[in-house]
Amino acid sequence: MTDDLLEEAAARFEEACEHTDLSEDTRERLRRPISSLKVSIPVRMDDGAMETFAGYRVRYNDTRGPAKGGIRFHPRVTAAEVTTLAFWMTFKTAVMDLPFGGGKGGVAVDPKRLSVAELERLSRGYIAAIADVIGPDIDVPAPDVATNELVMGWMVHEYGKIHRGHQPAVVTGKPIALGGIPGRSSATSDGAFQVVREVRGRVLPDANDPSVAIQGFGNAGAQLASRLAEDGWRVVAVSDSSAAVHDPGGLDVVKLREHKTDTGSLADAPVGEPLEPEALLTLEVDALVPAALEAAIHEGNAGDVRATVVFEVANGPVTAAADRILDERGVEIVPDILVNAGGVTVSWFEWIANRQGERWTEATVRARLEDRMVTETRAIVELADARGLRLRTAAYVHAVERLATAIDATGTTTLFGDGTS
Ligand code: GLU
Repeated sequence: MTDDLLEEAAARFEEACEHTDLSEDTRERLRRPISSLKVSIPVRMDDGAMETFAGYRVRYNDTRGPAKGGIRFHPRVTAAEVTTLAFWMTFKTAVMDLPFGGGKGGVAVDPKRLSVAELERLSRGYIAAIADVIGPDIDVPAPDVATNELVMGWMVHEYGKIHRGHQPAVVTGKPIALGGIPGRSSATSDGAFQVVREVRGRVLPDANDPSVAIQGFGNAGAQLASRLAEDGWRVVAVSDSSAAVHDPGGLDVVKLREHKTDTGSLADAPVGEPLEPEALLTLEVDALVPAALEAAIHEGNAGDVRATVVFEVANGPVTAAADRILDERGVEIVPDILVNAGGVTVSWFEWIANRQGERWTEATVRARLEDRMVTETRAIVELADARGLRLRTAAYVHAVERLATAIDATGTTTLFGDGTS
């Protein structure tokens, strides 16, 4: 991600501000992160050599509560990307009314190149490097692209060693044995599914046998494919970073997931026909689900998208330029800060349970997640209808108004203002 995307993210925020009566002071407070840390992580590789990796942790805003957001391991991680993702987390937690702000972290590394032991040393090294800027009341990391509960387990253990005591609420998405919560690993897809179900009548009123194409067959994409197939959707195409498969009659998602688990990729899948991964984005389908990385739909391909609706399961999969093109062409977008908010919502439940020394059942997690997703989806749809806004703008306005209320309530403007009020 380039600096341009950070600017684009900021432009969307400014656009949302046009629909609110946000004070200039509040806008200014939300224009830049409150803290950005770049670290170097030296790692002893299995062959004895030392390699150094660049790591980042950005706390974008913490007015509504401790910063919250995942950590990604990816070769293209940069300071600008992490900052943009932390910015989006600020709005995501506000959309869901979670008592959190927004943060994000990352390490520029290709994790597929590392052994498990190297990955553990890197994960522990990263936490040691950022230990001073995270904490259950400061900034609470979680999984993101190419990190999982195994990695979170190493991280919470490392943090406990540094602080000489158990602090399970410092990281969410942990293994259940280390204070994790049932339902966290399927939370993003469960939340996305609730949103899809809630808005389906609005965005696809006439589709009896709806078709969907899903870009990204990782945790969220593959699980959502299963949920949609079970709910009667035709999953006509899926892709991962190495291959794509297509069957207009509907793919056997169970077989595809088995193949992915066994071989690590969708290449040579036993069902469907191979497809150019890029071509998936322009198939004629009812719904398109980008569930991989940012900027999958951009100025260059947005004009060819033939879906009726796009559900953004990835963070930032549609660039601002593509957004405008899709909007002009009448393609509805259900935005990331709502669609993929199930993950951070269940992270909140995990954090609460850790702080109270409790264990929650999966049934409680599922019921409370559904309640949060349905409540906020309805609020955004109502706001969109009442003010004549696109769903993305409505979601931002919904978040911005909550953020502004909190920022105003801190009284900082009065404190540092002209001193007369
Ligand atoms: N990485 C996820 C996201 O982008 C989850 C973050 C969290 O649970 O804190 O929303």
